[in-house]
Amino acid sequence: MKSVLLIGLGRFGRHIAMKLSELKHQTMAIDIDEEKVNAVLPYVTSAQIGDCTNPDFISTLGIRDFDVCIVAIGDDFQSSLEVTSLLKENGARKVVSRASRDIQEKFLLRNGADEVVYPEKQLASWLAIRFTSDHILDYIELDGIHGIFEVSTPKEWIGKTVQQVDVRRKYNLNIMGFKNEGGNMNLTVSPDMVLTSSMTIMVLGSIENIHKCFKI
Ligand code: ATP
Repeated sequence: MKSVLLIGLGRFGRHIAMKLSELKHQTMAIDIDEEKVNAVLPYVTSAQIGDCTNPDFISTLGIRDFDVCIVAIGDDFQSSLEVTSLLKENGARKVVSRASRDIQEKFLLRNGADEVVYPEKQLASWLAIRFTSDHILDYIELDGIHGIFEVSTPKEWIGKTVQQVDVRRKYNLNIMGFKNEGGNMNLTVSPDMVLTSSMTIMVLGSIENIHKCFKI
């Protein structure tokens, strides 16, 4: 369980609060707007109404105690930048800030953000790959070069074994597991396992090789 400080409770921040609650993390939520704070009360451990660009307010929050501080302010970039910088000045261990334009990413990183999320850009990239490929059902980009992909079984692989498709030697890809129709994962991969049309395959490797292998 982690302790999280979540600042900015618009739609994005509220979804983060809901997911953190589902994952059983401890969240303190803050917004300048009372209504936004009230809306997340069922999902958070504690909440405050306040302006996080105010250094006196920030200094009362015990910033050092949080495992991660998330700045989910999107449109008001001036505030987002000020809050990010104040959090770091107050000893935040990890600050994750939200960007909503390309240029903002650079400034946030220079002003105290340890990581920047850019939801529109990241989701657009996921969506473009996901919905233009016949095989890719989901993926997580790991470092810009590598990823974990969930792919449907290509027609020409059906009935073959893991050893016969031989993607490790041909494409330097690792099959990590399988998911059946019910969504259950099987992470025991043996060379003689037969691939079927009803399963999906979890593959780890470089994005370039995934594209070559699945001819995307
Ligand atoms: P979203 O796109 O997530 O729906 P939004 O468009 O409602 O967000 P944003 O400007 O991105 O609004 O701000 C997100 C939230 O951050 C808002 O609820 C806003 O009240 C809050 N916020 C903005 N500035 C501050 C601040 N200085 N201190 C605390 N909360 C703030």
